[in-house]
Amino acid sequence: MVLTLPTTTRAAIFYGPDDIRLERVPLAAPGPQEVLVRIRACGLCSSETLAWYMQRKAPVPLGHEPAGEVVAAGEGAGVAPGQRVFIHHHAPCLQCRACRRGDYVHCQTWRGTRLVPGGLAEYALVPAQITAADLLPLPASVSDVAAVFVEPLACVVKSLRRARVRPGDRLAVIGLGVMGLLHILLARELQLERLIGVDLLPERLAAARAAGADDVLMGGEDVAARVREATGGGADVVVVTPASLGAIQLGYESVAPGGRIVIFTPVPPEDLWALPVHDMFFREVEIVPTYSAGPNDTREALRRLAEGLPVESLISHRFDLNGAAEGYRLVAQGRALKVVVQP
Ligand SMILES: [Zn+2]
Ligand SMILES: [Zn+2]
Repeated sequence: MVLTLPTTTRAAIFYGPDDIRLERVPLAAPGPQEVLVRIRACGLCSSETLAWYMQRKAPVPLGHEPAGEVVAAGEGAGVAPGQRVFIHHHAPCLQCRACRRGDYVHCQTWRGTRLVPGGLAEYALVPAQITAADLLPLPASVSDVAAVFVEPLACVVKSLRRARVRPGDRLAVIGLGVMGLLHILLARELQLERLIGVDLLPERLAAARAAGADDVLMGGEDVAARVREATGGGADVVVVTPASLGAIQLGYESVAPGGRIVIFTPVPPEDLWALPVHDMFFREVEIVPTYSAGPNDTREALRRLAEGLPVESLISHRFDLNGAAEGYRLVAQGRALKVVVQP
């Protein structure tokens, strides 16, 4: 509890890939149904190091994997000071046609909502829409640093749901950074026939093995053939996490007839993929993009964390706010798994 509310906060702002600045920005007091939180921890996401994705929004506050503590709550917010919470950086209206169909990321309200300034700050103001739709109290069993995984894990919950993974499936995960490893952690409980990880870094292959992969394969020229061999003819589901057409093509060459390729990360708008439609048709290969996650997914993710999903083993670095730029450098260079900032 603080008796006098802060009127400014330090925040990490993206100006360019090598230009992340800590700035002091104004902070409004919470109005009706709004909440002011002190950020206790925030994860760094590799998508925030994609220059083409960030540059068009710059300058833009960083951080969308926060866990915080309520400092002050406006009238009707339904949450009390002192409560530890997860807050999503986007929230849907829960009333429009897209929301009624469960397509939360296509709700017009969803993209317009955000934390102010962002998750990578000392304090953030949570707008009414997010307070109502996607502010989740954290149980004592979920630590601050585990709670930074609610948002990324929610994206993986959604990914595996959209992939329609079935017991007995052979599943391959291409790219074993944090998002790939979270897929391994969740997928190993789906009664798969085979769970395979592919990456170019030996330490990530070891991490995937520790997370529960049956087989790990070093990337390289003939890796699609090796995936097909390891899966007895191709994977029923291939999850592609790197942001590249090369990785998507590898996914296509690794998938079994009747299988699905999940595209988990966007590529730049000018990148076009030559889709072999004839082959896709006769092999009945499905392409399944999965973008972000909705409030149903964050609840499921938090439930899995409360059950003890061992995500803290994926944390490789911890910094205070001053270390944010260094943390993003490590993420961009592939030298870190999850970097957590505790402002
Ligand atoms: Zn992210
Ligand atoms: Zn809506």
